[in-house]
Amino acid sequence: MTTLRTAAQLCEHGYVPSERQQAIEKVSARYAVALPESLADLIDRNDPNDPIARQFIPNVAELDHKPEERSDPIGDDAHSPVEGIVHRYPDRVLLKLTHICAVYCRFCFRREMVGPDKPVGLSPAALVAAFAYIRSHHRIWEVILTGGDPLILSPRRLRAVMKSLAAIGHVKVVRIHTKMPVAEPDRVTTDLVRAIKIKSKPTYVAVHVNHPRELTAPAREACARLADAGIPLLSQTVLVAGVNDTADVMDELMRALVECRIKTYYLHHGDLAPGTAHLRTDVAAGQELMRRLRGRASGLCQPTYVLDIPGGHGKSPIGPSYVTQCGSGAQAVVEDFNGVEHRYPVR
Ligand code: SF4
Repeated sequence: MTTLRTAAQLCEHGYVPSERQQAIEKVSARYAVALPESLADLIDRNDPNDPIARQFIPNVAELDHKPEERSDPIGDDAHSPVEGIVHRYPDRVLLKLTHICAVYCRFCFRREMVGPDKPVGLSPAALVAAFAYIRSHHRIWEVILTGGDPLILSPRRLRAVMKSLAAIGHVKVVRIHTKMPVAEPDRVTTDLVRAIKIKSKPTYVAVHVNHPRELTAPAREACARLADAGIPLLSQTVLVAGVNDTADVMDELMRALVECRIKTYYLHHGDLAPGTAHLRTDVAAGQELMRRLRGRASGLCQPTYVLDIPGGHGKSPIGPSYVTQCGSGAQAVVEDFNGVEHRYPVR
């Protein structure tokens, strides 16, 4: 598997015109670049608005940092008691095992923290301290493995992590967030699937997919290997301008996910990551998209549209709301999927 990592390689393979190489070099000096062959092959080099290229090919607009953007947009650092752990909510923690990804998304909310210049994984000492933290906090019910992409680690290392989590009685659920099934589907081997499955507690896998074209035949097979092993699959999608911000694309994506046995879970509003303004939509546009999706697709295809509140205050669902008016009287006004309003008794 070839991965393109430099502006020169992107030019050589026709993904960036040679006159833009110097400008793209400035971007790649600032933010990590990796484009694996499996995703590169999906790009139509003749389409200046190709949705796959827009997600993964660096753009000079990334050097335009807006005042409202933050290096740590969702406030991980404010909730990190020990290296590798983010403890924002009482019943769950993030365990950031690595800062490496198979592909670097141009809108990444952790773009200041991920990249090949960072350590591949937590050091053995940091991992011991992270497990000690989880062990000593009895309210932690769920551990979410994230990064970077945790499935970049070898099955041997993942097996060791899962074994340690299996031994902690109060941890009942492990969730893994990954883009690997679409970025490098061949890495989701049966060995890796076995490594992440714990007999004593459920492992959920949340797969990051933003455009239906990413669900290629090999990607679907990788998801099937996980689902066939009894691992429940969830989706996480980032709303990206020019990629999936139309009802047609979002409808196709959500249906394709469900067809792959992936329950649609989160649609993330774009975070205020530096240099990503050109990839963000406004909240009203996201709400309108959700409203249109509700009107045309099965309930299985309805993710929750969420925003991570800057500063580390967590996720909130951001609508749209279908209760359009709640007066002081006994009736609420509820809107149906066609936009028609109905009265409903408040109690
Ligand atoms: S896979 Fe996730 S962590 Fe890695 S670059 Fe993309 S959004 Fe960021």
